Amino acid sequence: MEAIKVENLTKRFEDVTAVDQVSFSVQQGELFGLLGPNGAGKTTTINMLSTLLKPTSGRAEVAGFDVAKDRDNVRKSIGIVFQEPALDGKLTGRENLEFHAMMYGIKKAERNRRIDAVLKLVDLTEKAAVLVEKYSGGMKRRLEIARGLIQQPKVLFLDEPTLGLDAQTRRHIWDYVKRLNRENKVTIILTTHYMEEADYLCGRIAIMDHGKFVALDTPHRLKDVLGGDVVSLEVEGKAEPLLAELRTLDWIKKTNRHGEEINLTMEKGERRIPELITMAQQLGITVACVHLRKPSLEDVFLHFTGRTIREQEANQGERNRAMMMGHGRR
Ligand code: ADP
Ligand code: MG
Repeated sequence: MEAIKVENLTKRFEDVTAVDQVSFSVQQGELFGLLGPNGAGKTTTINMLSTLLKPTSGRAEVAGFDVAKDRDNVRKSIGIVFQEPALDGKLTGRENLEFHAMMYGIKKAERNRRIDAVLKLVDLTEKAAVLVEKYSGGMKRRLEIARGLIQQPKVLFLDEPTLGLDAQTRRHIWDYVKRLNRENKVTIILTTHYMEEADYLCGRIAIMDHGKFVALDTPHRLKDVLGGDVVSLEVEGKAEPLLAELRTLDWIKKTNRHGEEINLTMEKGERRIPELITMAQQLGITVACVHLRKPSLEDVFLHFTGRTIREQEANQGERNRAMMMGHGRR
């Protein structure tokens, strides 16, 4: 069954089209990612799906309920962890969860049972009685995930779940998110601008740029679009005879040359390296250095948009600064 179904979903803010005619669906039990640079429209998408923002046009269903017409039922079916942390530091971990559970009208005995369960799930049982202001960034994030689970949602939205966390803490959060999806069968939609996060966690990824989906598939198939690994050979002497011979091989999908460097696109690059070196030797050409690069989602983003996510983020930063100084265009 579909957990989420979106058709031509659009959100305009004055003259910014934050989300532009987006369509997709997510099956129950999927871990689905929205990957894109800052300002791509990820949060706006999540906010429409969780009924916090009204779509300008188009429609969306979450857990079978229309986000515009049936907001109460949508809200009862989802949990959400916001990009901006929202915990009360003067309360303990447990009290934060209690407060949230009471807002959902969950009765005392059931409340305690569920709080124990979610605390255990994110390994915070021991820290439940500690004030949240004493928590580390990673612990706060885990508590927020626990809070999003109190109402036993069918669908959990995680907006940039590891934003600002160090690499090691990020890995821990990844493990919790994966476990939650696998063992508790929660459908998860997460947004991120970290490529390796989307790659590691998500079964399918939508790559978002300027409010639009530029690609949607499994990480593996997204990378397949690029035709495989890139093997670079740095050669001493004339590269041309080698290049000519390489171009006759059908397992090499692309060849190009930058001075002494020959770049070759192929599948299973690591298995082909010995063969490539032997070929060069037979032509009397010395290979000084070999690089193998597996395609990343960064390459995929580059392929579809002509820019890297990092460049894109830098540009967005420029625009925001210009806007703050009052001479930007909106
Ligand atoms: P992301 O989460 O991918 O970083 P957002 O959904 O937050 O992107 O923003 C998408 C675009 O919409 C950006 O250009 C942003 O400036 C704009 N935007 C978001 N919220 C508002 C708002 N409330 N009013 C005006 N513009 C907004
Ligand atoms: Mg965002």
